[in-house]
Amino acid sequence: MRTTTLLRKLLGLKSTRVRNVSFDEESLVVDVAPTWKDPRCSECGSKGPGYDHDEGRCWRHLDVAGMKLTLRYDIRRVSCPKCQAVKVERVPWGETSSWFTFPFEDHVAYLAQTSDQTAVSSSMRIAWQTVGAIVQRVVARRRQGDPLDGLVIIGVDELSYRRHHQYVTVVVDHATRRIVWAREGKDADTLKAFFTELGEARGAKLEAVTIDMSAAYIKAVTEASPQAQIIFDRFHVQRLAQDAVDEVRRDEVRAATSEEERQKLKGTRWPLLKSFWNLSLFDSLRLSQLQRENKRLYRAYLLKDALVRTLDCTSEALARLKLDQWIRWAGRSRLEPFKRVALTVAKHADGILAYVRSGLSNGRTEGLNGKARTITRRAYGFHSAAGLIALLYGLGWLLERYVLELWH
Ligand SMILES: [Zn+2]
Repeated sequence: MRTTTLLRKLLGLKSTRVRNVSFDEESLVVDVAPTWKDPRCSECGSKGPGYDHDEGRCWRHLDVAGMKLTLRYDIRRVSCPKCQAVKVERVPWGETSSWFTFPFEDHVAYLAQTSDQTAVSSSMRIAWQTVGAIVQRVVARRRQGDPLDGLVIIGVDELSYRRHHQYVTVVVDHATRRIVWAREGKDADTLKAFFTELGEARGAKLEAVTIDMSAAYIKAVTEASPQAQIIFDRFHVQRLAQDAVDEVRRDEVRAATSEEERQKLKGTRWPLLKSFWNLSLFDSLRLSQLQRENKRLYRAYLLKDALVRTLDCTSEALARLKLDQWIRWAGRSRLEPFKRVALTVAKHADGILAYVRSGLSNGRTEGLNGKARTITRRAYGFHSAAGLIALLYGLGWLLERYVLELWH
């Protein structure tokens, strides 16, 4: 077998001819060319007469035997008859604007979903910022059609990144459980931008939107798609009650008269946040102790647990009854944080009950919260939201475990 034939097989690239092979200081350099003769426009694919060329343009390909491998080609420019302009020619192994081949970029994007950016950067021997840029290109190539088509029930959530100082708003399609849109920011304007992109016709087809009880999101949804049912995300509702328990606990720690009492209260933090069914024996002991020693905090726990169980109801009528009772109970609980939660819950009761009716919440896409948070933690280094957003779009696939099929 001739060396060039061997190399062509080794490269595994379609429509690529191997002309020569050599070494430079750090890599194996393979001179390649497309198998077609006339240059083709990189934008529209039309054939046209060559215009001029750029010598020794390089693309990094996957390493071979631990050695860097570079493809080199004198890339031509073409007078494209269709675009009526001079364009760079299309090459079969990579994007003309990229310094990497398609298989190299796909591999980086795959790794980026399973390891952190530093690991990807060092194992692939590429600059750290390059990881984000590559992922963006791969995602753009792999996305097909308009993800905003055919949306009926969507979820809106926010994710914090860069040590929680900045936010990205994400929109999930509940039917496919994919992230269909993401943008930096978390105010009404951010979500408005989504509805603008969605347009009136598609916006009118939305049946329901799951959101948290933020006034900004409520405003954006009711203005753009007034017919859509607003469903408040149950995990946000629960978090209100959890935060209230925590606030009561902190007040009690402050009010404690002895150090011993203080320490005891501190030890109740985690059991208090758990649901009744998830308590360990040790947690249960702590709580029964609490029942005797701190009535206020114990009442806070019961209130939180009752709200969680109300949300567990499968019958809307029963849930409505329980929610009304809960609002009255919390309102006269003599616990300020819970009085406030009672007001919020009363104000948004319709949207909360819509959850019971539909069973839809952002947390339903269980994988989303966990995985998105892992990815945002990894994305600390991103200087713009763009890299993070590209990863999040990829995450939509990861959720469905399609990722291996897609990349390979
Ligand atoms: Zn063209």
